[in-house]
Amino acid sequence: MKLLFEGIDEPRLNTLEVYERRGGYQALRKALAMTPEEVLSNISASEIRGRGGAGFQMGKKASFLPHGHMDKYLVCNADESEPGTFKDREIMQKNPHMLVEGIAIATYAAEINRAFIYIRGEYELQADILEAAIAEALEAGYIGERVLGSAHTFSLVLHRGAGAYICGEETGMLDSLEGKRGNPRLKPPFPAIEGLYHGPTLINNVETLATVPTIIRMGGEDYAKLGAQGSTGTKLVSVSGDVQRPGNYEIELGVPSREIIYGLAGGPPEGREVKFWFPGGSSAPVLTKDDLDIPYDFDSMAKAGSMLGSGAIIVVDDSHTVLEVAKKVAKFYAHESCGKCVPCREGTNWTVKMLERISSGEATPMDLDIMASVQEQIIGNCLCVLGDAMAMPIGSMVEKFRDELEAEIEAARERAGAGALEDVIPIGVADEQAGPLPVH
Ligand code: SF4
Repeated sequence: MKLLFEGIDEPRLNTLEVYERRGGYQALRKALAMTPEEVLSNISASEIRGRGGAGFQMGKKASFLPHGHMDKYLVCNADESEPGTFKDREIMQKNPHMLVEGIAIATYAAEINRAFIYIRGEYELQADILEAAIAEALEAGYIGERVLGSAHTFSLVLHRGAGAYICGEETGMLDSLEGKRGNPRLKPPFPAIEGLYHGPTLINNVETLATVPTIIRMGGEDYAKLGAQGSTGTKLVSVSGDVQRPGNYEIELGVPSREIIYGLAGGPPEGREVKFWFPGGSSAPVLTKDDLDIPYDFDSMAKAGSMLGSGAIIVVDDSHTVLEVAKKVAKFYAHESCGKCVPCREGTNWTVKMLERISSGEATPMDLDIMASVQEQIIGNCLCVLGDAMAMPIGSMVEKFRDELEAEIEAARERAGAGALEDVIPIGVADEQAGPLPVH
């Protein structure tokens, strides 16, 4: 079933002319004929969960904003920096007006008068296309004063980020939008109460907002009939890694994961098999080939010990070692940590060092225990989710592939000509031999 990707490859769909010819902005007209409460109740009835990672229901989030006349903000999170995720890029590049229409409807529903799209700096082409679409929509009266002659007025500004993962975190994004360094804020207060410029702010992902015109067109209750219990609708899934046909696919939530990885993406190259996979971007705990029949939806993924996240499936086949993938993941998050809180700043760097010790033949199996314990101490103890984003996948790799990592330790020690394991002092162990932990 295609809702978001219906006609996505039609030439010049990014122009207002083609978008309108295909029925574009009719959902906005339909919404403006309703009251804002009716539009919001349609969004709530659709039960759509946020498509950016957290999976919080959009209708609930919008309902947290205070009512009445005041400066309220909508920020569309187009930072899309989770490794493996590239679905929003395709929406913005090929069908930008669908996003603009979704923002227009959402601002009407939540009585918001100022909207922003925060797009990652690397998406230059998509930003140029969006800017052109916003100009066209403004000219046609879909944005601005008294939209299509209604009482709804709102502005829409595209803001380009400078390329930092942490600016995809909602409060880091708000700080960046305000012109500050993109540091996550303490919560509460949550953005719905105190967000951009201290005003109530609704933050939604590109895909979530781009789905709003479909919800209004179909009606919230009919939309809720699609997908699975607790995971309604369709979802764009970015499939990458060791598959024969990587790309973005639209699926109805609840289909078996195998159908996505093998059916749509063609599975690993000939002669290879799935070793493990990230179901929701590189921050999701890994699942193995034994988990391929789990339905791909929010609750099933959580029940399996992972998460659907941004809907980015990264497949790793049996030609790769767990160690090489773990190092890539840990290095990425260590590099992107903003450094504001200790468990994340120190924990990500220590994890990288411990993984490198395995490669250089300096590690012992005890390092795996220490590494697992470091991940446990990071999870739930950071200011934002970045620390957990490294700790969850690394912890899952150590747990599920401990035998392979132990074999790797042995082999690397042999290659390096390292001494017997019992002669080695494990890093970070403050016993009589090792002395106190080194401070960096
Ligand atoms: Fe910064 Fe990491 Fe703390 Fe988030 S968890 S605030 S990225 S140091």
